[in-house]
Amino acid sequence: MGDAEKLLPCPFCGSEDIRMGSTGCSIGVDIYIKCNCGAKVQICEEYGEEELIKRWNRRIWK
Ligand SMILES: [Zn+2]
Repeated sequence: MGDAEKLLPCPFCGSEDIRMGSTGCSIGVDIYIKCNCGAKVQICEEYGEEELIKRWNRRIWK
Protein backbone atom coordinates (compact mmCIF):
# COMPACT_ATOMS: atom_id res chain seq x y z
CA MET A 1 0.00 0.00 0.00
CA GLY A 2 1.09 3.52 -0.62
CA ASP A 3 3.39 2.86 -3.51
CA ALA A 4 2.13 3.88 -6.89
CA GLU A 5 1.58 1.00 -9.22
CA LYS A 6 4.34 0.69 -11.79
CA LEU A 7 3.45 0.32 -15.43
CA LEU A 8 4.52 -3.09 -16.71
CA PRO A 9 5.70 -3.82 -20.26
CA CYS A 10 3.08 -4.89 -22.76
CA PRO A 11 1.83 -8.39 -21.82
CA PHE A 12 1.50 -9.34 -25.48
CA CYS A 13 4.69 -8.15 -27.15
CA GLY A 14 6.88 -7.21 -24.20
CA SER A 15 7.43 -3.69 -25.44
CA GLU A 16 8.05 -0.90 -22.97
CA ASP A 17 7.16 1.67 -25.58
CA ILE A 18 3.73 2.28 -24.11
CA ARG A 19 1.76 5.46 -24.34
CA MET A 20 -0.74 6.96 -21.96
CA GLY A 21 -3.24 9.53 -23.08
CA SER A 22 -6.76 10.78 -22.88
CA THR A 23 -9.56 11.01 -25.34
CA GLY A 24 -13.08 12.35 -25.41
CA CYS A 25 -15.94 9.89 -25.05
CA SER A 26 -19.71 10.20 -25.04
CA ILE A 27 -19.94 10.96 -21.33
CA GLY A 28 -16.72 12.89 -20.73
CA VAL A 29 -13.10 11.88 -20.95
CA ASP A 30 -11.46 8.47 -21.11
CA ILE A 31 -7.86 7.78 -20.24
CA TYR A 32 -5.98 4.98 -21.92
CA ILE A 33 -2.75 3.07 -22.17
CA LYS A 34 -1.78 1.58 -25.48
CA CYS A 35 1.05 -0.23 -27.17
CA ASN A 36 2.28 -0.23 -30.75
CA CYS A 37 1.03 -3.81 -31.16
CA GLY A 38 -2.55 -2.66 -30.67
CA ALA A 39 -3.00 -3.68 -27.05
CA LYS A 40 -5.06 -1.06 -25.29
CA VAL A 41 -6.90 -0.52 -22.05
CA GLN A 42 -9.25 2.41 -21.66
CA ILE A 43 -11.42 3.58 -18.77
CA CYS A 44 -13.37 6.65 -17.78
CA GLU A 45 -11.17 9.41 -16.37
CA GLU A 46 -12.98 9.43 -13.05
CA TYR A 47 -11.51 6.02 -12.14
CA GLY A 48 -8.10 7.64 -12.14
CA GLU A 49 -4.69 6.91 -13.56
CA GLU A 50 -3.79 4.43 -10.85
CA GLU A 51 -6.78 2.24 -11.65
CA LEU A 52 -5.86 2.41 -15.32
CA ILE A 53 -2.34 1.18 -14.58
CA LYS A 54 -3.70 -1.60 -12.37
CA ARG A 55 -5.91 -2.80 -15.18
CA TRP A 56 -3.06 -2.74 -17.64
CA ASN A 57 -0.88 -4.70 -15.26
CA ARG A 58 -3.64 -7.23 -14.57
CA ARG A 59 -4.62 -7.44 -18.22
CA ILE A 60 -8.20 -6.41 -17.72
CA TRP A 61 -9.03 -5.32 -21.25
CA LYS A 62 -12.13 -3.43 -22.15
ZN1 LIG B 1 2.41 -4.71 -27.24
